[in-house]
Amino acid sequence: MRERIRSVIRAVPDYPKPGIVFRDITPLLADGDAFAEAINSFVERYRNAGLTKIVGIEARGFIFGTALAYALGIGFVPLRKPGKLPAKTLQQRYSLEYGEDALEIHTDALGAHDHVLIIDDLLATGGTVLAAVDLVKQTGASLQECAFVISLDQLPGVDRLQQAAIPYYTLCRF
Ligand code: 5GP
Repeated sequence: MRERIRSVIRAVPDYPKPGIVFRDITPLLADGDAFAEAINSFVERYRNAGLTKIVGIEARGFIFGTALAYALGIGFVPLRKPGKLPAKTLQQRYSLEYGEDALEIHTDALGAHDHVLIIDDLLATGGTVLAAVDLVKQTGASLQECAFVISLDQLPGVDRLQQAAIPYYTLCRF
């Protein structure tokens, strides 16, 4: 557990709606030492994993994912909300508490020769990252694991990943 990183994540009560405690990563991003520790933790873990691409989930996954890709000297692939990617895409829908959303990837972004890490800032219900895993599988790429800065262990995401036999790594837990 990375206590320093955990200590610079701000709890914002009643955001985005009453009863929710939002874990705000902006103080972590603003603290150069803590941000470097977060990226360096991922670098140490994945340096020798044989990754060919980092796959980041819109939008906060882009922040950690691009820094990590740069540090590892490999490319970055964005998973975006519908309608944002300009060329041909694959799409995966997923359920939210109310309604649904989707993620898209360019069809030519990954192939069977790729071995990737999926990264996002936070694991909650797991719906977002499970959609990301489905998209990566559709491209034929292999998955090392899913990485997060934060996992919310009271929510179902941790169990859903375990049940689906998808390995994951997190820097801190709440
Ligand atoms: P899930 O699909 O696992 O329920 O939700 C995870 C997604 O929602 C992530 O993309 C994450 O950025 C966002 N998210 C949900 N709750 C929070 C939160 O409390 N803090 C932050 N930073 N992101 C959250």
